[in-house]
This record gives sequence, structure tokens and C-alpha cells, in this order.
Amino acid sequence: MTRRVLSVASECVPLLKTGGLADVVGALPKALADHDWQMRVMMPAYPGLIERLATDPEILWTDADLFGGTANILGGKVDGIDVVLLNAPHLYDRPGGPYSGPQGDYWDNAERFAALSWAAAAICKAGLGDGWKPDILHAHDWQGGFAPAYVRYMKAPVKTVITVHNIAFQGHADPAKLAALRLPPEEFRADALEYYGALSSLKAGLVAADAITTVSPTYANELMRPEFGMGLQGVIAARAATVSGILNGVDTEVWSPSKDPELAPYSAAKMAGKAKNRAALIKEFGLGEVPGPLAIVVSRLTAQKGIDLIPGALDEFLGRGGGLIVLGSGEAALEGAVAQAARGRPDRIGVMIGYDEALSHRMFGGGDAVLVPSRFEPCGLTQMYGLAYGTVPLVAATGGLADTVIDANPAAVSAGVATGLTFHPTDGLAFGQAMRRLCALYEDRKTWSKIQRNGMKQNLDWSQSSARYAALYESLLDA
Ligand code: ADP
Repeated sequence: MTRRVLSVASECVPLLKTGGLADVVGALPKALADHDWQMRVMMPAYPGLIERLATDPEILWTDADLFGGTANILGGKVDGIDVVLLNAPHLYDRPGGPYSGPQGDYWDNAERFAALSWAAAAICKAGLGDGWKPDILHAHDWQGGFAPAYVRYMKAPVKTVITVHNIAFQGHADPAKLAALRLPPEEFRADALEYYGALSSLKAGLVAADAITTVSPTYANELMRPEFGMGLQGVIAARAATVSGILNGVDTEVWSPSKDPELAPYSAAKMAGKAKNRAALIKEFGLGEVPGPLAIVVSRLTAQKGIDLIPGALDEFLGRGGGLIVLGSGEAALEGAVAQAARGRPDRIGVMIGYDEALSHRMFGGGDAVLVPSRFEPCGLTQMYGLAYGTVPLVAATGGLADTVIDANPAAVSAGVATGLTFHPTDGLAFGQAMRRLCALYEDRKTWSKIQRNGMKQNLDWSQSSARYAALYESLLDA
């Protein structure tokens, strides 16, 4: 019997993406269908999204007053995904991004995403106009955080899951908004909605949900420690029995070197194409000869991602023949630092500030190694693209990076299981040492190519992850 799950999120590929959350939300419906779970994705109808539905939108729910204006829910399909868009122009119809405009974060973000969560809980209670009613509500991050709480207040007959994609974003709001957000005043307690005097929608979800997941087993453990929990470690530790880590998968339709339209095709069995892609990438960025490893970075340029560690390691890395190509955008100081490095050594360093999917594919196809020196990393996708593309990941041993890359220490190399390089802690010293090991490993051509092939043979698609989500949903219904 097919069972139903309502996924509540603020982003979903292909409709809107600002980070890895959107990839997960867009991939899960297709992956879960193999396990007899029908997922609908509920998200705000940001400007232009309704027009992108492949089917005529169907009105499935209406509300005369959803947090200050009329709202309806429009159902349709996009790329085979069932989506339900919450159309509430007073909350979502504005120029700018999903969370902020030219003036910074929207003043009413609490209301905007409480409305999404409230409507989701109402659907869990009463169903949609076409008779569709979920068995499970699956909320994502702070934007969906109030949904499991509203489910409890409304006594809606569903089980709830909340997934933490990044604990850094917690949905803090002024407690004066409690009534406006339709939250019971007696819930403003340290063991419920209150977070150091403020409201936190993420905490609301962590306290109310039947199960908590995050996107890797290591991050699940890290979240219970003060260095990573960002104030919520106690809340999560108190619910340890309900916490699990499920790694994200990779969309192998989009990320496979044998069928990537941006590349000369190659595979673990036939690697010749990779050298052609390397030469093309070096030419595209106008670099000179790069006798050592050509490292790439495809990332938000932020402190979380450890980008500030890179400039300090460059002199020695270039001295050993290395080259670097960076694609990303983010904090001005970090954009400036990488651009300055490129100006100093245009023969070895290329930088593109911006967001460019096609270029990111050419970089994974042509690079020798991908650098991911994150201070924390819930799951991380680029190290997995690196594995799939034979672009050896050099990563900080944290979160999902630690769960997906096996360090090329002598024991792992001799056992034939190494897939990359890991370092710890995330500081300049350890990163510099890892870059030195990268150069040495690159010179050992036989070991290098074994490591590349080990990575390319990993099963990174969504099959294992979706099986674990399906098992989790089933265990909640059986409980
Ligand atoms: P996060 O969600 O924290 O930014 P992830 O590694 O989980 O990190 O996901 C980032 C996603 O965004 C990956 O798919 C990565 O390839 C992509 N990405 C990041 N920056 C860029 C960029 N400048 N151009 C193209 N793709 C990018």
C-alpha cells in the first residue's frame, strides 16, 4: 500500500535553490517512490514558481486569513515531482531572495515560515481538496520547524520528522510574536519554544517531532556537542534516542563523468577523457603548465567552509607544482583574498566569483583534487562529486566529510580502501600538512590512480539513503 508523506521546505530543486537543502528536497520524492512512499513537496509560491508548474495548477486548499492575508495551495508537477505551492502573496510575492531583499532579512520571516508550517499542519489534520492526506509530515530546517509543533497543538493524526541540514540557522524570533504566530503562550518554556529569551522555530521542531534526522551520522553525533550544537546541543542530546544521521545521495543523472554534457566522457575503466578535460580547464582559465595536482574549490566562500585557510598554504603548494581554480561567492573578504591570490600567480591560480553549474561540472571533470576544508559540514556534496569524478577529495574530518572520505594513510592504502585525504583539526597547520601529502600522493601515480578508482566505484546515488528514510517513516507508523 502506498503511503504518503508531506515534505515541508523553503527550497526545492528545480524550483529554487540556495544550498544543498534544495537538492535533498528535490531528490527525495523520486527516490522514495521506489519504496512505495508518495511524497508531495510543500513550499512557498515565490514569484514565478506557479508559472513553472508543468501541469495546470489545481486549487487544493484555501484560507481567508493566513497570518494576515488570503492564501491558497496550488498543486502541480515539476520534473515529475508533486509539488504543492503555498500561494500567499502578502508573504511571498516580493522581489529579492527567498529570505532577504536589498534591505537584508525580511522583517516578517517568522510569520512567513510559520504560515508555511501552519498550513502544512492544517493539511495533516484535514487533507487536501483532492483527498490526499499524509501519514507523515517531514519538515526541513528552521523554515519547517514550527510544523511538528503545530501538528501537536492541532492534534493532527500524523507522525513527524524534522531534518537538520544546518544547525547554524535556527529561526529566532521576538517572543512578542507568540500570539501572532498562533503559538500557545504556555509553550514559551525552556523545554519547548523558548531559546535564551527568544523564540526558535528550529528548537520548536526538535522538541515536538517524533524523530530528528540530520544529513550524516557524524554530524548527528557532533550536534550533541557544544562545539557544533550552536546552543541546541542539550536539546538534541536530550532526544538522542530519536536522532539519526542519514547521508545525502548524489543525483547520478546529473553527476556522472561518463554522460556529462560538459565533458569529454570518462569512467574508472577508461580515464583518458579526464586528461583532456584537465587540459581544457587549464586553457579555459588561461593558466600555464601545472606539473603538480590541479586543485579545485566549488563552494560558498564563507568561514564555515574554511576558505580562509587556503591562501596560507598556497606558496608551498605552488612551489611543489600545484595549481588552483576557485568557483564561488560569499563573504567579501574571502572573495578578495582568492582574487588577490590569482592576481599574484595568474599562471597557476584561476578564480571565478559567481555561481555557475556548468563550469562546476567542467571543474570536477578537469580537476585532480577538490578541497573542502570546512569547519563543520553537515553532509557536503562536493566531496561526493569529487569521488564520482575521480577528483580526489581533500577534506576536513568533520560531519559528512568524515563519513564519505577514507583517508589515504598507509594502512588504508595497503588495504586498498583509501578514497581521499582527511585532516583534523580544521586549522592552517593541519590543512598545510594535508596539502603537502596531496602533492606527494600525486607523484605516486600508481597509488593516485587506485585512489581515484576507489572513489569512482562508490555507490553514491540516493538508493541507500531513501531506503533509510522509508525505514524511518515505517518505524514511526508501526510505533
Ligand atoms: P552548502 O549547502 O553548505 O552550500 P553543499 O556541499 O551541501 O554545501 O552543497 C553546495 C551545492 O552548491 C553543491 O551542489 C555545489 O556544487 C553547489 N555550489 C556551491 N557554490 C557553487 C558555485 N559557485 N557554482 C556552482 N555550484 C555551486
